[in-house]
Amino acid sequence: MDCLFCNIINNKIEKKLLYSDDYVEIIMDAYPNTDGHCLIITKKHYNDILDIDDDVLKHISVLTKKISLSISENINVDGITIYNNYGFHQQIKHYHQHIMPVYSEQVGIKFLQKANSNEINNNYLLIKKSINDFVKKEKIEKNINN
Ligand SMILES: [Zn+2]
Repeated sequence: MDCLFCNIINNKIEKKLLYSDDYVEIIMDAYPNTDGHCLIITKKHYNDILDIDDDVLKHISVLTKKISLSISENINVDGITIYNNYGFHQQIKHYHQHIMPVYSEQVGIKFLQKANSNEINNNYLLIKKSINDFVKKEKIEKNINN
């Protein structure tokens, strides 16, 4: 099966990687709606929300909370929209969840049209740094607690 996201996970396609663990990778969306629009993609191929293992879905939810906290604290955003498409709007049939920073100047107008990530991802390095700092801090806290 030729799946775009499996190819991304297997490093057959270039990506801007933000985070990786045993279950997921977080990458910048190649065609973002807003600056910093990123995707959580499962390492294992699940078709969609009806197909994904509950434990992996829970992991993604908790990770989403942490990443959202990290982005809100480190980047000048006015909000974050989190969504997953199933069925008609799901273009790539490999489970993925969107994390899309929202900027107030865009609210009420419309989100940016899909753009090439190189054009609008001014926050890529900032987001990557905030996530990496967060993961480092978590590891340190884990070590302290253990
Ligand atoms: Zn796949």
